[in-house]
Amino acid sequence: MTTIAESPACPSVDRVDALTPVLPVLGHDTPAPLVDGRRVPYANLDVAASAPALQAVGDRVTAALPLYASVHRGAGYLSQVSTTLYESARATIGEFVGARPDDLTLLVRNTTDALNLLAGCVPAADGTPGRVLVLDVEHHANLLPWQRATDATVLTGRGTVAATLEAVRAELAAGAAAGRGYALLAVTGASNVTGETLPVADVVAAAHGAGARVVLDGAQLVPHRRFSLAQTGVDYVAFSGHKAYAPFGAGALVGRRDWLDAGTPYLAGGGAVRSVRVDGTDWHDGPARHEAGSPNVLGAVALAAACETLAAVDTVALREHEDALRARLVDGLEAIDGVEVVRLWPDAPDTVGVVTFTVSGYEPGQVAAYLSAEHGIGVRDGRFCAHPLLTRLGYRAGAVRASVGAGTAGEEVERLVAAVAALVADGPRADYAVVDGLWVVVDDPRPVPEGSGLDGLLATAGPGGDEAFACVPD
Ligand code: PLP
Repeated sequence: MTTIAESPACPSVDRVDALTPVLPVLGHDTPAPLVDGRRVPYANLDVAASAPALQAVGDRVTAALPLYASVHRGAGYLSQVSTTLYESARATIGEFVGARPDDLTLLVRNTTDALNLLAGCVPAADGTPGRVLVLDVEHHANLLPWQRATDATVLTGRGTVAATLEAVRAELAAGAAAGRGYALLAVTGASNVTGETLPVADVVAAAHGAGARVVLDGAQLVPHRRFSLAQTGVDYVAFSGHKAYAPFGAGALVGRRDWLDAGTPYLAGGGAVRSVRVDGTDWHDGPARHEAGSPNVLGAVALAAACETLAAVDTVALREHEDALRARLVDGLEAIDGVEVVRLWPDAPDTVGVVTFTVSGYEPGQVAAYLSAEHGIGVRDGRFCAHPLLTRLGYRAGAVRASVGAGTAGEEVERLVAAVAALVADGPRADYAVVDGLWVVVDDPRPVPEGSGLDGLLATAGPGGDEAFACVPD
C-alpha cells in the first residue's frame, strides 16, 4: 500500500477528458439549469467542502434504516442490532485510520467537533492550561478550539516546508528550554486552501523529540490518502464523514486513550455517566465519556461504509486519478492569462486535489457565480475558514477553490478550465451584481426548487424527465 510518506511527485498531464470516476457517487448526473435555458450535468468541484455520497454509502444506509432503533440501553431485538451496527462502525472507522490497540475511536459530528473535544482533554500543567502549538495555515477548526481552551501559540508558517519545520522545531525547543514545554502540536494533514501537505514523519519526530504529542487535522487528507496512526506515530487524528463521501452527520476523533479518559467530558448528559447524585457525578471513561445523548447511528454506519469502500479501492489508482485531475487543473489554469494559483509550500511532499486561484479583474464571488450560472460548475469562493493564511498570502479579498475526489470525472475539470479561459477571453454573458453581499445573476431566469426543494428537481432529473434537459456539456 502506498502511504503518505511514500507519495510520488504529481504527474504533469495534458487533458483528462477520458478520466472517469474511480468510485461511483450519487448525484453525478444531476442536471443543473443554466442562464441560457440549457441544462448540463452538475460538475461538483466543491468536494473539499462536502463530498457527494458514495453509492456504497447510500446503499448501506438504505439497508440499515429498517433496522434502526434505540441504542445501548434498549433490551429489544432491534436495539441490540442497532447497538451492534454502531459499535462495529466504530471499530471499522478506527481500523481505517490505523488505530493502535489502546487507542479510542470517538464518534462525533465532524472535524470541528473532534478538535473541540480534544481541546478539553489537553492536560493542564501546574494548574495552567496545557500549551498547544499551531501554525497560522490552519482551518479555523484547527485554530479556534486551541485558542479558546488551551494556552495556544500561533506560529507564522514560512515560505517552504523546510523553513516551516525548522521554525516549528525551534519553537518546540524554546518551550521546553523555558520549562513550559508544549503538550501538543496541532497540524493540518493537507491544507484546505492549497491541498499541500507537510511530511508527517518529520512533524512527528519534531514534536515527540520535544515531548509534545501530535494531532492531525485529517479533514482533507483522510478521504484522499491512506493514513495510519500506527504507521506514522501521530497521536490523534480528526476527520469528517461529509468530506469522506458519507454525508450523514458523523465524524471521528481517534487516538491515545489517557488524555481522553481524563479530559473534560465533551457533552454532559445521559450515557456519559456511571452515576449521578445531586452533589456530584461519576463519569464514564472510554468513548461513552464524551458521547452523551442519543448517538448518530446512521451517521456512524455511513462513515464505516465509506471507510470500508475507500480501504478496498486500489490506493494507487485513487492517487493517480486525483493527481492527474489536480495537475490538469493547475496546468490548465496557470496557462490562462491573469489566473494565479495559490501556493503555500513549493517543496510540499504531496498535494491532494484542492486548487485555489484568482482571476485578474474579477472578484472571486463573481467567478463562482459565473461558473455556476453559465457552466453548471460548483466551486467555493471566499477565504475558506483560513483567514490568517489568506491574509498573510495577500488574498484578503479571497479566492476561488476547485476541489476533486474519487467521484470526479475528467470532463468536469476540462469544463472548469475552458470556462475560466472563456471568462478571461470574452467576459461573462449574463449580468452579475452583488446583492446582500453575494454575487448573483441579475434577473436570474433559472428555476428555483420549491417546497421541500425536491419536487422541482425530481421532476427533471433522470430518464423521462423534463424534455428541456439535454445532457450537453458546454
Ligand atoms: N479542517 C479542514 C482542513 C477543513 O477543510 C475543514 C472543512 O472544510 C475542517 C477542518 C472543518 O470540517 P467540518 O466542517 O467538517 O467540521
